[in-house]
Amino acid sequence: MNYNDSNNLRQKFLEFFRKHGHTIVQSSSLLPTDPSVLFTTAGMQQFKPYYLGEKSPYGKNAASCQKCIRTSDIEEVGDEKHLTFFEMLGNFSFGGYFKDEAIKLAYDFIVKEMGLEIDYVTVFSPNKVAEGDWRKDVPEDKQSFEIWKKIGVPENKIKKEGIDNFWGPTGDEGPCGPTTEIYVNGIEVWNIVFNEFFCDKNKNLKKLDSAGVDTGMGLERLAAVVQKVPTIFETDLFGPIMKLFPDFVNDKTKRVIADHAKASAFLISDGVIPSNKEQGYILRRLLRRIAVKVRSFGNDVFTPIVRSMEIYRDIYKFDEKRVLSIVKDEVERFNKTLEKGLKEIERTPNLTGEKAFSIYETYGVPLEVAEEIKPVENRQDFFDRLKKHQELSRTASAGMFKGGLADASEQTIKLHTAAHLMLAGLRKVLGGPNGYPVIQKGSNITPERLRFDFSHKEKMTPEQIKEVEDFVNEAINKKLPVKFEEMTLEQARKMNSTGVFESKYGERVKVYTIGEGNDIISIEICGGPHVNNTAELGKFKIIKEESSSGGVRRIKAILE
Ligand code: ATP
Ligand code: MG
Repeated sequence: MNYNDSNNLRQKFLEFFRKHGHTIVQSSSLLPTDPSVLFTTAGMQQFKPYYLGEKSPYGKNAASCQKCIRTSDIEEVGDEKHLTFFEMLGNFSFGGYFKDEAIKLAYDFIVKEMGLEIDYVTVFSPNKVAEGDWRKDVPEDKQSFEIWKKIGVPENKIKKEGIDNFWGPTGDEGPCGPTTEIYVNGIEVWNIVFNEFFCDKNKNLKKLDSAGVDTGMGLERLAAVVQKVPTIFETDLFGPIMKLFPDFVNDKTKRVIADHAKASAFLISDGVIPSNKEQGYILRRLLRRIAVKVRSFGNDVFTPIVRSMEIYRDIYKFDEKRVLSIVKDEVERFNKTLEKGLKEIERTPNLTGEKAFSIYETYGVPLEVAEEIKPVENRQDFFDRLKKHQELSRTASAGMFKGGLADASEQTIKLHTAAHLMLAGLRKVLGGPNGYPVIQKGSNITPERLRFDFSHKEKMTPEQIKEVEDFVNEAINKKLPVKFEEMTLEQARKMNSTGVFESKYGERVKVYTIGEGNDIISIEICGGPHVNNTAELGKFKIIKEESSSGGVRRIKAILE
């Protein structure tokens, strides 16, 4: 078969697993039913219920090629192996086969079917885990080590790694287990996860009755190693787009445009339209980023998007006209404000960092574009302001209050802290749909009242409302301290904080904790500000509970 055509690779993978007793399942939408995530980021997502015991309609073994979006990798796009949109090939077993079979299948596919040579593989060892991390107590994955050895991978090519080779749990508690990864030509191509434990809230592990296998291999990375090209952007999945740009454009710019064009085409196709929140906001940012870049060398935004759809024409359906008309509306609107911003720059005698930032905020003119017109004095000021702004918008995108810190009057701050307590209360009282915790879907705070939207299907009963009120008032009466700490997103994730993780890896965030010692009520990523002690709040009361939109309820509450 000709593997310079990725359509054949995709087909080969699915065919291989079909032959080995797997049901082939279509890719699910990029917009998941799981309300706790913005996008589908892995193949296993659509199978989650079957790992938790729900009966699978596909039998015990399934395989798929899943469309994925990972905005958390956006800063990595442009290196040799990261994208925001990619396809993940995967095989899954819910209580069917386990380590022996999973490792053998992966080995046979990579080495026997594809004729590739494995650089090395990794397996989990607690010896590589830092002191104090709860995973230090997880037993070493000796089975995987032995299985790789038996298959014929020499011992010096079976590397023992720490927490990078341990997956989950994704919330306070849930399935988790060791992973084993396969590296070819220096690239991690395949990650195989063994869901073998249930981790409870106190980080105690119990063997699951029925263990599961969940694997993921990027189609683009597989194509790069099979097609023997140095980066994913030289595969047939990118060639037709990369060709469009003039030679003088640098590689990173070309790659970013190619990636974002594809992501935009797929997002629109799955129903996203540009807007100021959630998925629509991501799409808007992707499109605007391309628009600014192509403008600098005189290309148009449409051709890369058309090429993207052509590459996948035989695999996914696109309504080309609709996709292009949505792109056209957004880009035209953006260009109009951009033009206004450029005029404003021309009119400004001394373009300071502060002014450049205000023009960026109002009209969306990025610093590089402003600098094409005239030099910017005190550039650092621009970046300082940008950083502050990002902190605020993170709060906003986490669904905190609309006007950001501008509304931070004393009463607003109190209601903001009450919102954290209430979310904790809702999670305690309602649990959540299909085992997912209640998720905040938005909020708006004025000095008079707090409005709060959250994921929940049914109307709350009067008893539940009372329970949430009591929960909050109890926390107030306990006079709990409210503190924040700055840390990386990774650290925040490890603390199991609530909040938006769809952000740049390595970025520092503020994490607010209410309570201390054994009495911690809430941990949330949030820009603040908050009161210093819950005693400042007064009495909390829910005045209304109503439907907001499908699967989302709205609460109005006050502090008396
Ligand atoms: P990396 O460390 O390289 O970012 P990862 O550990 O985040 O990878 P997994 O979450 O294990 O990757 O995803 C499974 C597979 O999906 C990876 O082995 C890789 O082949 C592919 N993959 C993951 N993220 C991306 C991405 N941003 N772009 C392209 N392929 C990806
Ligand atoms: Mg990654």
